[in-house]
Amino acid sequence: MIGSAAMKYLARAGVDVMGFSSREPASFADHNGVFASHYDAGRITRTLDPNREWARMAQASVDRYVELERESGIDFYDPAGFVVFGPPGSKYVDRVRDTANELATVSRSARPGDFSGIDFGSNTDIEAQDKDAGVINPRELVRAQLILAEREGAKVRYEEVSRIEQHAGSGVSIETIEGNSFDVQRVLIAAGGFSEPALTGARLRLDVQGRVVFLVEADEDIASAMPALIADDAAGLALSEFYVLPPVLYPDGKRYLKIGTAEYDHPLRSPADKISWFWGEGDVREDIRALQQTIEALVPSIRNSATQQLRCVITYTATGYPYLDWLNDRTALAVGGCGQAAKSSDEIGRLAARLFAGDERRYPAITTN
Ligand SMILES: Cc1cc2nc3c(=O)[nH]c(=O)nc-3n(C[C@H](O)[C@H](O)[C@H](O)COP(=O)(O)OP(=O)(O)OC[C@H]3O[C@@H](n4cnc5c(N)ncnc54)[C@H](O)[C@@H]3O)c2cc1C
Repeated sequence: MIGSAAMKYLARAGVDVMGFSSREPASFADHNGVFASHYDAGRITRTLDPNREWARMAQASVDRYVELERESGIDFYDPAGFVVFGPPGSKYVDRVRDTANELATVSRSARPGDFSGIDFGSNTDIEAQDKDAGVINPRELVRAQLILAEREGAKVRYEEVSRIEQHAGSGVSIETIEGNSFDVQRVLIAAGGFSEPALTGARLRLDVQGRVVFLVEADEDIASAMPALIADDAAGLALSEFYVLPPVLYPDGKRYLKIGTAEYDHPLRSPADKISWFWGEGDVREDIRALQQTIEALVPSIRNSATQQLRCVITYTATGYPYLDWLNDRTALAVGGCGQAAKSSDEIGRLAARLFAGDERRYPAITTN
């Protein structure tokens, strides 16, 4: 997500740029290489956020969605709206409102009854955003960015990078598992949860966590009325922190409502850990039990519907922002979506490209040494 946007902006700036990425595997279980955090049909987008910086990055990106869709011919954005909610006096909802006031983000207080099909419970504090919010399709956004990058002359190679080596004074050589090698001037590492191997010894403080999301088959009726939801301190449910996407059309032709949470710790340290996580290893019974109970309480009409699980990884940084920085004079990085970079990836990619134009590093990397 970040790399494809950065490549577009670099190519637009007249830079001769080549991008490497692994293709999404048809079967996760048969793939023994790197994966990605955008292999899904839905990601929440919103500019309502307790954090000013993330709200700004999201706003800068959302403001360009329509143009991006028009230029690329790819539709990826559904302005379905967004809601944060919590118990009366919720600190999370208050922080979101404070930031919205500060940034003049348009939102409104809503009542539980305003959203048919969702049981918020009578005593719930709700803040709704009707404009600049809803759902993006991350796969389609990446496709749109790549179309625009290639139109600007960028080259895309679907090869897995196995080695990056800097040569004093003369550039960087890149080798791929396909046995090809390339000599380039400089390199931007935007490899998400699989960035560490490429970081050639720079011991960045990254926390890569395994996540499982719960998909519930849902029909069109629910889809039409439902916004995306986030709670951080909900009461009376199996989870207090979670997010829900309204039903989204998946490649199997069905619509699924999705719920996810960060309440369960699944640290993944090595590339092998991460790969086996995508294969479905690791115990997620507790996660699934709590996700299912929460979504069935919130949207009772979906009880007994068919369900599925999807695996993914989130890359947290020590700062809570993506690391946008130089590791050395030829290697820059744009790593660490912290579970919320999909909606803001166009802006994060733009900021990463600006590093190559000499811009100040806005979000310095934190290393362990
Ligand atoms: C379950 C889940 C739910 C989420 N929900 C939301 C949400 O609602 N809203 C939101 O804004 N964000 C959300 N996110 C976060 C968002 O998806 C990520 O922040 C975003 O995908 C990170 O983008 P990225 O470019 O850093 O990494 P990725 O999108 O993972 O891209 C990294 C790319 O690098 C490639 N790569 C890695 N290593 C190599 C190599 N050695 N050689 C070649 N290519 C390589 C990979 O194939 C991949 O294509 C969610 C994430 C998860 C896991």
